[in-house]
This record gives sequence, structure tokens and C-alpha cells, in this order.
Amino acid sequence: MTRKFNYKELGLSNTREMFKKANEEGYAVPAFNFNNMEQMQAIVEACAEMGSPVILQVSKGASNYIGLEMVPFLGEAAVSYARAKGSDIPVALHLDHGPDLATIKDCIDHGFSSVMIDGSHYDYEDNVKYTKEAVEYAHKFDVTVEGELGVLAGIEDDVEAEEHVYTKPEEVEDFVSKTGVDSLAIAIGTSHGAHKFKPGDDPKLRLDVLADVEKKIPGFPIVLHGSSAVPAKFVKMINENGGKIADAIGIPNDQLRGATKSAVAKINVDTDGRLAFTAGIRKVFAENPSEFDPRKYLGPAKKLMKDYYKEKIQDIFGSEGAYKKAEVR
Ligand SMILES: [Zn+2]
Repeated sequence: MTRKFNYKELGLSNTREMFKKANEEGYAVPAFNFNNMEQMQAIVEACAEMGSPVILQVSKGASNYIGLEMVPFLGEAAVSYARAKGSDIPVALHLDHGPDLATIKDCIDHGFSSVMIDGSHYDYEDNVKYTKEAVEYAHKFDVTVEGELGVLAGIEDDVEAEEHVYTKPEEVEDFVSKTGVDSLAIAIGTSHGAHKFKPGDDPKLRLDVLADVEKKIPGFPIVLHGSSAVPAKFVKMINENGGKIADAIGIPNDQLRGATKSAVAKINVDTDGRLAFTAGIRKVFAENPSEFDPRKYLGPAKKLMKDYYKEKIQDIFGSEGAYKKAEVR
């Protein structure tokens, strides 16, 4: 397959400089997933207005949904929007949970500036092997690669795991040096989806594992997946307006805030955006059942998601003002 897009020509950035600056300045780069134009708008508007770098993430499922041929243009649109509003934030277009080398190559050929190879369900030796292959291809085009060690509980697309398998700190140095990855996702108790903990649980991240990992690979960019807070206000809004989402509990803000001061350079949030978006749509439909103009229900949904992400950038990521802020309309 020939390479159709060069991310640099689309105005996108890889994550190398982003993570370096984030670790030097003690914040984390927000990595938010999107499935459609309104979610992408919510993300880039929030980050541009906050002057925060941003990683726009799509999973393989999301890219199939959008159409891989359209994804590079959404990335380019995000950059173009930020620049038009006077912001110089770097924007990465990242493949979340790349399942295999074929998907990774396809995404790089379609203008992705960063990819994740999720080899976490293989045994250690195979994880090293597949990750190394992904890195060899990606680095030819200056695309950055995120690997993963350890397994997160929960469901994301077709990736599902019952139990946490915490990252073994004694493996990270070997993994990083053998594979050449640019960043490493680790499992310290965050999980995918809305049902991270049961009511009554005391959600605790294994910050001791994070600290041990940092000692082994000082300054190396660490990634946390599955870090949505699952805000009660959105669950309530959904349920009050005809929805049914039960027993959803996420990662408390205070647990994550500490992590951003460390070598954690990227934190993934997907579920919170989905909840905010759904809450916004449900509220409009509950209050005005005759509404059928998509702008009238997707608009409020987008605004709810955007406002929440701006809050989150202040409360957790600490990345506000790292770059020039967009002018607020
Ligand atoms: Zn994930």
C-alpha cells in the first residue's frame, strides 16, 4: 500500500515534543477519543481555548465508523480551526488500541501522527516482537508509537478483560529498550468503560506501581488509559431523561491529579465525553420531543462535552496555557 497522507502536511504533530514539554513542565497531555465531527469539535475547541496540547484519538472501531479515508481530514480540520482562532497548540492524530500491524500501517498511510500497538494480551515475548515491528514501520515516517505492558480491566471496542494485570516494573526497562517505543501505557488500576468500580468501593490507583516504573525508566513518557471520572451529574442527567445507566463509578480526580505531576505524560478519557454527549442529547429530546433539527440536539451535546473537558484540563491535566489560547467567541 502506498502512503496516501503525510501527517506533517496536514499540520499534525507526533507526540515526541508534546511529551517532553509535558514532563518538563509537570502536566499531562489530554487524549480524548472521538467518533464524529461534533465530538472532534468539542475536543479541539476546548483544548484550543485552554491553550492545551491535544491528542485526538480514534480506535479502529471509530475509524471504521467514520471511514478511514475521512479521518485525516478531520485531523486537518482540527488544526485548521485552532490556527484560525489564533492558537498554536500541537494536535496529534492517534490510533488508540491498534490491534495489529496491518491496521497500524493503514492508519500511518492515512495521516496518523501517532499510533498505539496494543500487544498487552500477548505474552511478553510476542508483545516485544509485535511492538518492535510497529515501531520499525512507524519511525520510518517519524510517527510515534505507544506500547502497553499490563492489562486494564473493562471493555473498549472489542478489547475486553475481566481482571487487572498490573504492570510489572521489572519488565519496563527491557521492553522499552528492546522495542524502541516512544511512550508506554501501564496498568495501575484504571479501567475501560463506565463501570470501573462498584458502589461502595474505595477506588484506589496503584501509585506505588507507577513510582516503581518511574524509577526504572526515569523521565520516560507514561500513559494512563481508562481514566474517565464518570461524573455523577451526567449519569443523573441521562437517567432522569429516560436513560438507564446503573452503578457507574470512575477514577476520582484527586487520584489522577497526583499522577500528572509524575512522568505520566498522557491520560486517556473517552467514557466521560460519551456520557456528556449522551446526557445533552437526552435532555433536549426529553424536554422537546418534537425537535428534529440535528443542530438543536447535537449542539447542546457538543457544548456539554466541551465545557466538561475544559474543566477537566483545569482539574486534572494541568495543561492550561502551555500554548497560546484561542480567542473565545
Ligand atoms: Zn485504552
